[in-house]
Amino acid sequence: MAAPMNNSSLAERVAVAYRELGRHGLVTGAAGNVSVRTAGGMSITTSGSTAETATADGVVTLDREGRTDENKKPSSEWFMHAAIYREFPGAAAVVHTHSNACSALACLREDMPAFHYNVVGFGGDTVRCARYATFGTPDLAVAVVEALRERNACLLANHGMICFGADLTQALGRAIRLEALAYQYLLARAAGRPHILSDAEIASVRERYKTYGDLSPSAKR
Ligand SMILES: [Zn+2]
Repeated sequence: MAAPMNNSSLAERVAVAYRELGRHGLVTGAAGNVSVRTAGGMSITTSGSTAETATADGVVTLDREGRTDENKKPSSEWFMHAAIYREFPGAAAVVHTHSNACSALACLREDMPAFHYNVVGFGGDTVRCARYATFGTPDLAVAVVEALRERNACLLANHGMICFGADLTQALGRAIRLEALAYQYLLARAAGRPHILSDAEIASVRERYKTYGDLSPSAKR
């Protein structure tokens, strides 16, 4: 059996994931955060930690109430992460970004419909846009939990996106894939009126996902 991971190696993995978001252009500066679930709470990037330069030093471990004995300040968005770990037992890692296409779409306060079959990979026939609430507030955490019901990702009105995964790699892959989809959806909207998959077409995609698992290339990351 693998030895349980200690907090410092977890912090290193969170920092690597955060830098990866920077490398993919999904987080510029400190406009995002990453966390992993721990036995007693979570390890999350600190307030002001930037994706370009993140190290394990820019990660803090919190208990479920957000308390820490480290002399570091967690991201102001830790409420959203805590709510996701509380409400979704399958969530082991959470990624939040203000990536360009997701944020642009979220400013329309519209759900992303099944314009592309990959939308179904996020759990439903839409990726919902959570209602607007001020960043860093418990109310935004409530809005996020509502929008994530039976989903693993959502947009945040006038803000960005958030997703979770069974591990950091899966959460990261989903953030990358959702940004690509949001960009494609905006392109399709700019070019015309995208055709939305019918219920029967969505049901067929669901069947395929069930049989073959997550089919999208980035799932294999
Ligand atoms: Zn944010």
